[in-house]
Amino acid sequence: MADRTESESRKLLRRLRDSLAEADAGQARLDHVTHLIADSIDCEVCSIYLFRDDDTLELCATEGLKPEAVHKTRMRVGEGLVGRVAKTSSPINTADAPSERGFRYMPETGEEIFSSFLGVPIQRRGEKLGVLVVQSKEKRLFSEDELYALEVVAMVLAEMTELGVFVGEGEALSALHQHPVTFRGATGQEGTAEGHVWLHEPRVVVTNPVGDDPARELERLSEAVSELRLSVDAMLSVTGQGDGEQGQVLEAYRMFANSRGWMRRMEEDIARGLSAEAAVEKEQSAARARLETVPDPYLRERLHDLDDLSNRLLRILTGQGNDTGAEMPADPVLVARNIGPAELLDYGRRLKGVVLEEGSVGSHAAVVARALAIPLVIHAERITTEALNGDRIVVDGDQGVVHLRPEETIAKAYRDKIAMQAAAQDRYAALRDKPATARCGTTIALHMNAGLLADLPSLTGSGAEGVGLFRTELQFLIRAHVPKRAELARIYSGVLDAAMGKRVAFRTLDIGSDKVLPYMKRVEEPNPAMGWRAIRVGLDKPGVLRMQLQALLRGAAGRPLTVMFPFVAEFEEFREARQMLIDEMERERRLGHTLPTTVEVGAMLETPSLAFAPQAFFEMTDFLSIGGNDLKQFFFAADRENEQVRRRYDALRSSFLRMIQGIVARCGETETALSFCGEDAGRPVEALCLAALGIRTLSMRAASIGPVKHLIRAVDLSALRRLLEGELAGGADNVRPAVVEWLATQDI
Ligand code: PEP
Ligand code: MG
Repeated sequence: MADRTESESRKLLRRLRDSLAEADAGQARLDHVTHLIADSIDCEVCSIYLFRDDDTLELCATEGLKPEAVHKTRMRVGEGLVGRVAKTSSPINTADAPSERGFRYMPETGEEIFSSFLGVPIQRRGEKLGVLVVQSKEKRLFSEDELYALEVVAMVLAEMTELGVFVGEGEALSALHQHPVTFRGATGQEGTAEGHVWLHEPRVVVTNPVGDDPARELERLSEAVSELRLSVDAMLSVTGQGDGEQGQVLEAYRMFANSRGWMRRMEEDIARGLSAEAAVEKEQSAARARLETVPDPYLRERLHDLDDLSNRLLRILTGQGNDTGAEMPADPVLVARNIGPAELLDYGRRLKGVVLEEGSVGSHAAVVARALAIPLVIHAERITTEALNGDRIVVDGDQGVVHLRPEETIAKAYRDKIAMQAAAQDRYAALRDKPATARCGTTIALHMNAGLLADLPSLTGSGAEGVGLFRTELQFLIRAHVPKRAELARIYSGVLDAAMGKRVAFRTLDIGSDKVLPYMKRVEEPNPAMGWRAIRVGLDKPGVLRMQLQALLRGAAGRPLTVMFPFVAEFEEFREARQMLIDEMERERRLGHTLPTTVEVGAMLETPSLAFAPQAFFEMTDFLSIGGNDLKQFFFAADRENEQVRRRYDALRSSFLRMIQGIVARCGETETALSFCGEDAGRPVEALCLAALGIRTLSMRAASIGPVKHLIRAVDLSALRRLLEGELAGGADNVRPAVVEWLATQDI
C-alpha cells in the first residue's frame, strides 16, 4: 500500500512538473494544478488558498467547488478549517468537517455536500504561503499516506510559487517578494537610511523540487551529508572538542548531522518524489514551524542549529555558496537573522543600515552598530524570508520600523527626512570649531562616545573636545580569544595618537552576564543586568582587569591617561579598583617601563546607590561620569532592553532630575568634575536641561554634537535653570511640557 502510494505521489509530482512545461500561465496553470491533484488523489475537490496579505487567505483556484467563488471567497487566518491550518501550520484531517470545532461554511462555494476534509499548509522554509485542501463527499478519513502525499505536493507548490511560475495573465498570483512589506521591530540604533538589501546569508534557490530518479537523489543527499559531517568535524577540531560555548554549539551540530531521525524523514520525502534539496527544505520548514511554538530557550536554540545545518546542506546540494555571484549594492542595508560583532565590523561603515530578526539592544552586534553609528532595527521578524538581494529598503531606526520595497510615497517621505537631516548636519558643520557657549556665557564641554579606533576620525569631524567614554569591551567582543596585552596596548596607543592630545576617558571592561565574551564561561543568572558584570567581575577575578590596566599604562606611556571604572555601586569597590591601578603603576615603574605623565581615575555613576556614597568617595575620585542608560534603568526599575518598558520613563521626570540635582550638589561640595555620558546627553532637550542643572561636560554620539551645540548656543541656560527650579519647587511631575513651551518662545 505504502509503495503504491509512494509511486502515486511520484507520478503526481512528475505530472505537476510536466504541466509546467506546457504553455499555459497564471490562472490557467493554477487551475490545471488543482485538476491534476484532484484526479491523482481521487477526490472531488482540490482547492488552493493563498495569502493575500498577512492576515487574509483567498480561494485562488479550485477543482470541484463553484468557479464563481474563485478570487471572491476570503477568510482570515484562524477562521474556519482553512484558516486554522494556516494559523497552526498543521494539517487537519477529518471525515466530518461540519462537526469540527470552528468549521465555517462558505455558501458561495457550494461545499456543503462535501464531508471529508484534508488541508495542509503551503509553506516554504517557515514562510506561510497558503493552504492546499482536498475534499470528498464520502465520509472517510484520509490515510496517512494520502496526507503525506499532499504535504509533499504542497511543498512543491510552495517552490513553484517561489519561482513565480503562477504569475502571468489574469494575475492568479502576484509574484512573491514584490509587494511592499512593513516590519515593526525595535530600535537597536537610531537613525534613518535608505538603500538596497544585502543578505548576510543569501537565500538558496531550489529550482528542481521534483526528483526524477529517487536512487540518484538519495545518493546526492548521502554525499552532501557526508560532506557536511566532514565540515562540522573540521570545525570541531579547530575550536577544540566541546570546548566552551562555541564547542557546545558545534557538538549540537554534530548531533544533528548524525541524527537518524532527520535523515530518515528526508529519505522518505525523496522516496515520495522530492529532489534531495526539496527534501531538506521540507524538513527545514517543519523545524521552523516547530520553532514558532517552542517556548523553551534551549530547545529553540537547538532548532536554530538544525536550521543552520539545513542551510549548509542546501548550499552543498545546490552549489550555491555564500558567494552567489551577486554584487553588493552601492548602498547596502544588511539583512540577517543575527550577526556576530566581528562579521559586522568586517562590513564596517560601508553599510547604510542593519536589520536583524533577532538581536537585542545590548547584543554585541548592537554595540558595534552603535559604535559605527549605523541605524539598526532588531526583532524584524521574518525579514530574511521576505527580502531578496537588491530589494529597496528603508530603515527607520528611530521608530524601529523597516519598509521593504516601499511605496514611492513612503520612500519619498523618508528621502525628504534624510535630506533634511543631511542639510542640518551641514549647518552644524559650520559650528564645528565654535564653543558650546550659551547666551548667558556658560560654556558646556561636548565630548563624544567611542569604542573603536575607527571612531576617532569623528573627533575632528564633529568638533568634540575629547572622548568622554571609550567603551573598551568592543576589542574583547570581536575576538575569539582574550586579546594579548601587547595587542591592547598598541590599540590604546593608536587611540591616543588619533586623538592628537585630546582627552580620552577609557572605561575598563564592562562585560559579564548578558555581554558574554565568546571565550568566557557563561554564568546563568536570573537578572544579568543586575548580576555579575563590569567592575564586579574585575574585582572578583582580577586577571583580565590587571592585564587591561597594564595595557592602558603602556599605551599611554609618556602621555596623560584617564581611566574610569564602570558600574561602581559603592565606595569600597572604587577604592579597590583604584588601588589595583596604583599597584600596576608601581609594577610598571619597577619593570622600568615609561609611565603616563598624569593619571586621572574616575568612576561611572550608574547605580543610584553611588549618589549616596560617603563624602570620602567624592573626595577620592578625580571625576564622576553619569552613565544615564544604566542609572535610569535602575532608578525607575525598568529594563533598558525591554521594549515594553524602556521608553516608559522620561529623563525629564522631576524624580530623576532631583537625583541629578543631588549629584551635582555633592560634586560641587568636593569640587569633583562631573560629566554625563548616557544616551540622554545626545538628545538636545535633555542635554539642555542637564546643562542647566549644572552638568558642564556632556559626552554623546558624534552625530549628536551638532544639534546639541546648536541648541545650547541659542539659549540662556541660567533662565532655563530658573524655570526648572521653579517647576521642581512647584511640584511638576515632568518638566518636559514647560521646557518645550519655553523653547517655543525662544528665537531658535
Ligand atoms: C550608561 O550606562 O549610560 C553607559 C554610558 O554605559 P553603557 O551604555 O555602555 O552601559
Ligand atoms: Mg552602563
